[in-house]
Amino acid sequence: MKAVTIAALAALAAASPAAPDSQQVALAQLHAADARLAAVHFRLVTANADLCRTLMPVTGARFNTLAQYAPVVRAAARARYGFAAPQAVQLVVPASPAEGQLQSGDAVRAINGVAEPAAMPAADAPASNAARDALRGRIAVLPPATPIAFAITRAGTPMTVSLTPRPGCRAEIEVTFDQDSYSLEDGTLAISADVLRRFDENGVAVVIAHELAHVILRTQARLDAAGVKTGMFVGELGRNARLRKQGELEADRLAVALLYNAGYPPGLAAEFFAGPGKAIDYGLLRDRGTPSRSERVAATRAEAALITPGTPRPYLPAMLAARDQKME
Ligand SMILES: [Zn+2]
Repeated sequence: MKAVTIAALAALAAASPAAPDSQQVALAQLHAADARLAAVHFRLVTANADLCRTLMPVTGARFNTLAQYAPVVRAAARARYGFAAPQAVQLVVPASPAEGQLQSGDAVRAINGVAEPAAMPAADAPASNAARDALRGRIAVLPPATPIAFAITRAGTPMTVSLTPRPGCRAEIEVTFDQDSYSLEDGTLAISADVLRRFDENGVAVVIAHELAHVILRTQARLDAAGVKTGMFVGELGRNARLRKQGELEADRLAVALLYNAGYPPGLAAEFFAGPGKAIDYGLLRDRGTPSRSERVAATRAEAALITPGTPRPYLPAMLAARDQKME
């Protein structure tokens, strides 16, 4: 399983420890990248809840922990997010259930009456996402549409706020500094920083929808069941390459429906692959298991043509059935 490269570490590694200003700039850039991802993610996972078997409560708040930052930048992270507790609200997606209830910098002390960790990381403890992932995990298993009470400290004042989440597909999102975006079987969607740098919201939405489609279609599990290995050389073998390409095109096609359900036009994915998406480098890394750009355009166009004007949302495409089908 691929490790998620965490944006906080990569972006901040470049910042000089002796220059607090450059750390704040790096934190601000990271915050902006996370905000862009969080907004599109919120839209896609909530609009497609009916297409997902595993749901989570989606609050629209994104949490971070002091421990996920490297020791050298913890002071900067505290300056930005307060961290009156080891975990705090990083940001809130506009027009989400958390808006007006939680805000960036709120320290989280308890959730539904259950205390959150109170021990701050040791000064020299290396950066770790374990506490942040555990916090996300505790929220993810709560009932998806039942109000959640957060005991917080805001600007030194303890208070409790309650919000009613929206059910959404269980999938968390991250920025990765790997060249390519990818998804993990646990639902993690890792979106390349390069995608954020190059594309506008529409392009980012197509990439996220593609990765979410892999999660919904269980692509990796089905490839594993078919005995397909994803190594560099094995990948060139005929059957493996054919099935991997099938998995990619299925995700492209389901992404069309996911985008439509989230309010984007049905033709968005095809336009992206035919237009700005050609900036994605399919050249050097592309092997026979990766569809060509023209194949992606054709697949997404064909799928969009199935969505006639006025099709009600959520639209459940025939492609969804692939999740239960053997790859062969
Ligand atoms: Zn893919």
